[in-house]
Amino acid sequence: MTDAAGPARPELSLLVPLYNEEENLEPLLDRIQEEMARLGRSYEVVLVDDGSGDGTVAGLKRAVAQRPHLRVVLLRRNSGQTAALAAAIEHSRGAVLVPLDGDLQNDPADIPKLVSKLDEGFDVASGWRRHRRDPFFTRILPSKIANGLISLISGVKLHDYGCTLKAYRREVLAPVVLLGEMHRFIPILATWQGARVAEVEVTHHPRVAGKSKYGLGRTLKVVLDLLTIKFMGSFLTKPIYAFGGAGVGLWLLSALLAAYTLWQKLAYGVWVHNNPLLLVGIFIALVGMQLIMMGLLGELLIRIYFASSGTTPYVIREVLESERMGTAP
Ligand code: UDP
Ligand code: MG
Repeated sequence: MTDAAGPARPELSLLVPLYNEEENLEPLLDRIQEEMARLGRSYEVVLVDDGSGDGTVAGLKRAVAQRPHLRVVLLRRNSGQTAALAAAIEHSRGAVLVPLDGDLQNDPADIPKLVSKLDEGFDVASGWRRHRRDPFFTRILPSKIANGLISLISGVKLHDYGCTLKAYRREVLAPVVLLGEMHRFIPILATWQGARVAEVEVTHHPRVAGKSKYGLGRTLKVVLDLLTIKFMGSFLTKPIYAFGGAGVGLWLLSALLAAYTLWQKLAYGVWVHNNPLLLVGIFIALVGMQLIMMGLLGELLIRIYFASSGTTPYVIREVLESERMGTAP
């Protein structure tokens, strides 16, 4: 978080990643200004250009010279929506963070609804594009399947993880590392950290200008990211439990196969060299040993991770102390 000079922290930071959105920029900023004037809270808009090749950068430079409340971050090359969002978070100062798409598919008119959920005491308000306006077979259907899978595996029940429009208290984002397509998993990571998450229906508009940057390929990335966060969520602090558990399981299986081979010899006179099961057992035992060693390597890595990143394996909500501490009677 940069603590750039300037007035006190705003209440809201709107975070907008932009990749080749020249036609959408001005209408978007107009809409934001309109809605924020109506809401009447202090705000800033952090606009991140994700290496656009069109007039987006020129448009941003013009806008920042003419309009209030803008901070513009220009990335050197295209790094993807999640990375652009991470840059926006890093350069924002508000107490509440509201990411939204730069193509006007999200409606700034929904921001007050999300923010009032946080006022009710929730830590995250997650948008649900109930009536989503995108192509059905390449976007809506795969997204429905992915959403089902994500809620099943994560145990966090939301309808629409992919919706960019959400509102977060800044604290819940502090421990989150954003890589790949991970921004959609923030509500899950936050829930695992003890945050309270609410879902809010939001409007969704078809894209009127510019092109969507995604197709079907993203669903696969989302599923792989899901695997990563599930593993991290369950085993970050104890990799040996995952790998070692599987390794010991394989050893038991291989012992069973060896015993069965022996029994076949004693009962039916089947010699070992005629029985492939022993070889299968040996193979499984070797794989099991590899897994256990991977678990031990994981244990080494995780110690380096915690020591170098300064993160802790626990999350503190608050520390309370008596007024009198230490040696005073
Ligand atoms: N975006 C970005 N970097 C990228 C791809 C997309 O910053 O590499 C931005 C894009 O400009 C838009 C938002 O992310 O503001 C969502 O992208 P898009 O509208 O293409 O996604 P969709 O709405 O089709 O899911
Ligand atoms: Mg879009």
